[in-house]
Amino acid sequence: MIEPDVEKLLAYVAKEATRYLEWTSTAPVRSPRVDEVAASFDIKLPEDGEGALAPLQEIFDKAREGAVHSAGPRFFGFVIGGATPAALAADWVTSTLDQNVGLDVCGPVASRLEFVVVAWLREMFGLPSSWGGVLVTGATMANFTGLACGRRWWAQQHGRDVDDEGFAGLPGVPVLSSGYLHGSSHKALAMLGIGRNTVRKFARDEAGRLDVDAYGRALEELGGAPAIVIANAGEVNTGDFDPIAEMIDIARQHNTWVHVDGAFGLFGALSPRTAPLLAGTERADSVTSDGHKWLNVPYDCGFAFVRDVSYLAGPFGVSAAYLRAGEDTPNLAFMKPEASQRARAWTVWATLRAYGHSGYRAMIERHLDLAQRIAARVDAAPDLELLAEVKLNIVCFRFRPPEVPEEELNALNERLLDALLADGRVFVTGTLYEDKRALRPALVNWRTQEADVDLLVDVVRELGAKVLAT
Ligand SMILES: *Cc1c(COP(=O)(O)O)cnc(C)c1O
Repeated sequence: MIEPDVEKLLAYVAKEATRYLEWTSTAPVRSPRVDEVAASFDIKLPEDGEGALAPLQEIFDKAREGAVHSAGPRFFGFVIGGATPAALAADWVTSTLDQNVGLDVCGPVASRLEFVVVAWLREMFGLPSSWGGVLVTGATMANFTGLACGRRWWAQQHGRDVDDEGFAGLPGVPVLSSGYLHGSSHKALAMLGIGRNTVRKFARDEAGRLDVDAYGRALEELGGAPAIVIANAGEVNTGDFDPIAEMIDIARQHNTWVHVDGAFGLFGALSPRTAPLLAGTERADSVTSDGHKWLNVPYDCGFAFVRDVSYLAGPFGVSAAYLRAGEDTPNLAFMKPEASQRARAWTVWATLRAYGHSGYRAMIERHLDLAQRIAARVDAAPDLELLAEVKLNIVCFRFRPPEVPEEELNALNERLLDALLADGRVFVTGTLYEDKRALRPALVNWRTQEADVDLLVDVVRELGAKVLAT
């Protein structure tokens, strides 16, 4: 079973990986052959093995033709980071060591490293040093983790241990947010039994901006009953923020648990230019962010921070005869949804050590500059229209040639998005913003430079003109 030639295989992967990353500098981000390549893997279960080199070669060959090359610099879709060299290499090491950090006894060094990394991240994001946190698979699970703590707190206010006893007999959990709430919070609320659609969103316009007065009134009307508030630090259409400080000021006059979703927006704390958007976050009870987005570590990696780390033991504690209780060192398996788990701390530690706080600040600020560069070019182009102020790293705009009437613009931009996907030189995803079909490139990848964003604007205008002509 053991491949005698591990060295040969790893050398092959190192060589091909380097070539692949080099190639993504200029190759199309997405090939039109995706479906065909994906289907080609669907072969009969091999009765006899062929050895390890053949499948690796096949994966590399086919990935080149069929994968979306989001590791490269011209992927602007959703909010997706790449992997810094330090993080990528550390990820290989992580697989080599293959530690299960759920229990300290299995992976003591890597498990304890997670506490170091959480402290580094807390410092970088300006969160109080008394807070705790855990690494999870992403911001969805981080939202789940933070809101699970909030649910525990909420039930305690009703004199109940919801994690031991469940919800039976308790009223519904009031959850309040703005229209900026991310879908993953709905999902987390569904997973928590609170209910996907029970959250009340106070929006004063179609974009979803918080209606502060209505939100304040709703808290008032609860008459002291406990509630969970979710503030959004970085909304995915435009990168805008809820007025977090104001939202928390109001929440604190009532009986609330405040959760902040900063999946990518929390990184705004690294630059003095955007840090004010996050003012007040340090007064929340739980905060979410992502590693695999703006930190540029490989999937999967998210961060859940909590003011009072003891809450984690409620939903996530485990007891079983074969697990030793009362150990001095905390076991991560008892602090988060996952039991057995990857040692995610290695990549985070390695990339922060490699590039430092200042290296990340510089990257974030370069992305802020690139977003402004796109916005300026959009403003200057007669056939493009900026739809929202650019506050962070997302630029929401549309193709709008002066001769096309408003009612035809959504269909035109829909066709443009399809044309961009088929063309593949850049990858950008769309949205519906205030009922307008829009493009919303996000700057997240550490490799992206001015030439890449200039190409983005050029390709949008070129394909826009083509789509308009047909
Ligand atoms: C991406 C994102 C999430 C979900 O993150 P995953 O890492 O995909 O689970 C949650 N909230 C916001 C604001 C996001 O941008």
